[in-house]
Amino acid sequence: MNYVDRVLEELKRKNPNEPEFHQAATEILNSLKPMVEKHPEFEKSALLERFTEPERVILFRVPWVDDEGGVHVNKGYRVQFNSAIGPYKGGLRFHPSVNLSIIKFLGLEQILKNSLTGLPIGGGKGGSDFDPKGKSDNEIMRFCQSFMTEMCRHIGQDTDVPAGDIGVGGREIGYLFGQYKRIRNEHVGVLTGRGLSYGGSLARKEATGYGLAYITAEAMRARGESFAGKTVVISGSGNVAVYACEKVQSLGGKVVAMYDSNGYVYDKNGIDLAVVKQIKEVERGRMKEYAERVKGTEYHEGCKGIWTIPCDVALPCATQNEIDKESAEALVKNGVKYVGEGANMPSTLDAISVFQKAGVVFLPAKAANAGGVATSALEMAQSSGRLFWTFEEVDEKLKSIMINIYRNMDSAAREYGVEGDYVTGANIAGFKKIAEAMTAHGIV
Ligand code: NDP
Repeated sequence: MNYVDRVLEELKRKNPNEPEFHQAATEILNSLKPMVEKHPEFEKSALLERFTEPERVILFRVPWVDDEGGVHVNKGYRVQFNSAIGPYKGGLRFHPSVNLSIIKFLGLEQILKNSLTGLPIGGGKGGSDFDPKGKSDNEIMRFCQSFMTEMCRHIGQDTDVPAGDIGVGGREIGYLFGQYKRIRNEHVGVLTGRGLSYGGSLARKEATGYGLAYITAEAMRARGESFAGKTVVISGSGNVAVYACEKVQSLGGKVVAMYDSNGYVYDKNGIDLAVVKQIKEVERGRMKEYAERVKGTEYHEGCKGIWTIPCDVALPCATQNEIDKESAEALVKNGVKYVGEGANMPSTLDAISVFQKAGVVFLPAKAANAGGVATSALEMAQSSGRLFWTFEEVDEKLKSIMINIYRNMDSAAREYGVEGDYVTGANIAGFKKIAEAMTAHGIV
């Protein structure tokens, strides 16, 4: 059995009941095969075994009290996966589906994504099975304070710098930061995605969605195309989806559909983003209300149907495994040409294979959504330097980082003889630096 297959088999045996982690590791390690074959020293130093085993996994209890005095207990997680190239960096997810498998898959992806940005940040991820939906601000605050009371002893501006993810936006980061500062008595860049009044960076909120649009536009430019006149379907209506929509629209694309976890809206005239922002960011409402407010639009219960809408570009921006084989086939049948992953692992392995076989330009998450973490690293740089860059400065840096990511993964794919296979290209381009740093550090 070859080295990669053996590591994958061991990984599955040692970590049973972690299907998402197996899925991510399978995609990553299989695509590293051509590189591993050229480097027999990887096997001698058990590099892949070390790469797929987190440096540290922290599991903790998060007790909190609701507005009626009821006591609840959630699980808290922080996986400090790999610090070879910099402090652990990666978001916190608050969603009832969160478990160790999901945090580990996200953490493993994050290592390569962070490396791809070219910035000095390691990989980590964390979160809780807490569901922020339907909770009052005070309940959210008490939960965040309890979560940080434990987490604060494991993180630090030079150790581990968490950020937001699903269910963790500006409000949550504010409460988490407030509790960190109170306990540790230091006002430092220990979290990113902070508010502008206490050390945040302009353009961080927009960064993941904008970055997704920039890298997709670059893939188009390389093929003599652009967003102008293209029909685009975006899933989700959270932070990534909203700002992907904003930038796609400004680049001339027509976004015709978006969803939340209840159902999707189809607006053939083009989504009115101001209405979406009002509903999702201000009122914390549901996409259903969009159809009630904007004439001529359709609302459909359930999410999957969104992928049957004909489009040139699909940007999944909600959650993992939202595009399965059947949905990928529907997209291909309707002529999709570009798929850019805003969410983490939104396409199943089968779906990716459908896209690649059909010649769709497929931009994997670790490259396509890296703009968020890249801008988080720019936030860290501003915090350390006590600097504050303008929106335009940050946006310009973000754009050039995304273009570089595209070029690096494109040239890695060419170097290994798989031109246009950006799954392989992104994994190899990201892994190069990790392998070099881990090797330099010896067996640790
Ligand atoms: P938000 O919480 O802001 O938005 C998530 C969106 O996805 C909401 O519309 C939500 O609907 C929907 N959603 C969540 N779970 C499901 C589900 N199981 N089925 C259908 N819809 C679902 O999160 P973000 O926008 O921050 O994150 C979205 C994705 O992007 C995630 O995969 C995240 O890991 C990834 N990402 C985020 C980054 C960031 O900077 N925020 C950076 C890089 C990646 P509802 O409101 O109904 O729950």
